[in-house]
Amino acid sequence: MTSTFYLETFGCQMNVVDSERIVALLSDMGLTQVDTPEEARVILLNTCSVRDKAERRVYGHLGRYKPLKQQRKDLIIGVGGCVAQQEGENLLEKLPFLDLVFGTHNVHKLPEMVRAAMNDRSRSLETEFLDNEARLQLFPTRTDTGSITRFVTVMQGCDNFCTYCVVPHVRGREVSRPSAEILEEIQALVAQGVREVTLLGQNVNSYGLKGESELSFVELLEQINDIEGLERIRFTTSHPRDLSDELIETFGRLGKLCHQLHLPFQSGSDRILELMNRGYSRQQYLDKVARLKSVCPDIRLTTDLIVGFPGETLEDFEQTLSLVEQVRYADAFTFLYSARPGTAAAHMSDDLDPAERQRRFERLVKRQEQVSAEIWQSDVGGTFDVLVEGESKQGQGQLFGRTASNRIVNFEGEISLLGRCVPVKILRCGKNSMVGEQVAAG
Ligand code: SF4
Repeated sequence: MTSTFYLETFGCQMNVVDSERIVALLSDMGLTQVDTPEEARVILLNTCSVRDKAERRVYGHLGRYKPLKQQRKDLIIGVGGCVAQQEGENLLEKLPFLDLVFGTHNVHKLPEMVRAAMNDRSRSLETEFLDNEARLQLFPTRTDTGSITRFVTVMQGCDNFCTYCVVPHVRGREVSRPSAEILEEIQALVAQGVREVTLLGQNVNSYGLKGESELSFVELLEQINDIEGLERIRFTTSHPRDLSDELIETFGRLGKLCHQLHLPFQSGSDRILELMNRGYSRQQYLDKVARLKSVCPDIRLTTDLIVGFPGETLEDFEQTLSLVEQVRYADAFTFLYSARPGTAAAHMSDDLDPAERQRRFERLVKRQEQVSAEIWQSDVGGTFDVLVEGESKQGQGQLFGRTASNRIVNFEGEISLLGRCVPVKILRCGKNSMVGEQVAAG
């Protein structure tokens, strides 16, 4: 057990991309990734602190590894990501069995930290925030891939400081990656067999607005749309305030841009939106949704929303519920508010009864689940292009892929269809996926 590592990833797609980089760095050192912590010489957790629950899960997992360390003194345990950035030295103090802590800007330092821990058992901490120039050198680029779909980071960090959010504190300020580098990466990915890219950033709509890159986000999309061999483009996450008319129009004219958008609204109440520092009103949000639907009538929208923000009254909550009814999201990620250390909202007075917060949460989830079921059920009987991503977990000659609306579809087919868009008629609809059958191209 001298050269193995086990990596657990929590949280958002940014962490997933960082974890790919961790895997690449440790593999380059000659370490092999394993499936269980028991088999590993190095155990790493790439963590999320965006919600209290996610953070508690990290501590829970670390606690499980303590007995392993007691059995095997040469085991190395490390923590990276947002909890590492936020807690830093506290983690090493609180958890004596921990060997290394690396922040969101310090993934590149991991090989030397692991080497030091292996050689002389030294514990290390790297949580320094880098300047933009240094960060631009460190954008993750991986073009060796066996997959059909791929996330491509176009920007990192956030300048918005929504009052509940730790991202600007743990990921740093916004920086956009040069357009030429993004285009080159996508061309290389397509040459390797990738057919769909999702452009990734905390707030992709503000790509290039701060002057670091050459193209605007719309121009970048136009050039990606021209890349031969690429079938589909998606992007996430969007901030409603920065969703310009020009960007909305791209859904009507760029053939490869999927008719699907994640557009977090967070609250349906203007009073709460202001307390959250979101920078748009309910009506402005609804106007953008109306424009999107007029440009692209079949667009499927998803969203994030928070229940029980400090000071939320029943009336505020009812407005959130009514917005969900009005927009009819295909899916929504609903979160119970939890105060995050270091954010402005953590200092706001919050006297909402936890039982009432929970009741509102359950009401909203229940209503949204009904709306989601109705929307996805309406696809049954229809035929959609499915981009085949691989063999389905269902086995027995089953493939899986996604519709342009980002819904997983399982159907019977030959593996030679991998990477191709095929027409599939939807037969049944489950909670998270659908079952279909391939039909002749129309
Ligand atoms: S836009 Fe707001 S919620 Fe999103 S990452 Fe930035 S601060 Fe957080």
